[in-house]
Amino acid sequence: MPQNRFSSKDQIVLASGNQKKLAELSRILQPFQLKLTPQSAFQVADAIEDGLTFVENAIIKARHACAKTGLPAISDDSGLEVDFLNGRPGIYSARFSGENATDQSNLDKLLLDLKGVEESKRMARYQCVIVYMQHELDPTPIICQGNWQGIILEEPTGEGGFGYDPIFYCPKAKKTAAEMQPDEKAFISHRGKALREFTNIMSKRL
Ligand code: IMP
Repeated sequence: MPQNRFSSKDQIVLASGNQKKLAELSRILQPFQLKLTPQSAFQVADAIEDGLTFVENAIIKARHACAKTGLPAISDDSGLEVDFLNGRPGIYSARFSGENATDQSNLDKLLLDLKGVEESKRMARYQCVIVYMQHELDPTPIICQGNWQGIILEEPTGEGGFGYDPIFYCPKAKKTAAEMQPDEKAFISHRGKALREFTNIMSKRL
């Protein structure tokens, strides 16, 4: 029978195949001394994300990793919502430009879709849902959410981060996500917010 109680000695699988995202997750969770292992270490392939919401997809990913490893898992489903595009690419952010999409091709498509759109209409936000499941049949997953408001620039700026970061301008920080140091992004980002909520819940459980 799967374990019901979390212990800091438990190994937890990080249910994502995206290396840059894994780096951000591991970095933010590092102080909590959890034994995190990416699913690739167990030869777990990416789950088929056929949910219609970030929450559904995050649950699909965590459940898949639990099922394949028999261990608890943390997943992240995230994406960018652009107001002018009625919330697209949203849950399809990773595959916005098609089957063999890359970060660059997705970013190029977004710039093309927003070509000529004035700044006041280029509002957007990153969304992140973090799910923790103790086992594949866990009926009460921990679900945490965070978002981050920004504006889509006309030109990429900055070398850091990943995905849409070079065109995601944060008015509060007066720079793009790609111009931020990892700790700065972790503090302000959708992922950082969702993970802080998650670690608060976990700390109370331990
Ligand atoms: P997922 O792996 O299916 O959750 O897809 C997430 C996608 O959303 C990524 O491939 C990026 O395109 C986008 N995304 C999510 N978070 C970020 C971020 O922090 N920076 C840039 N792009 C992000």
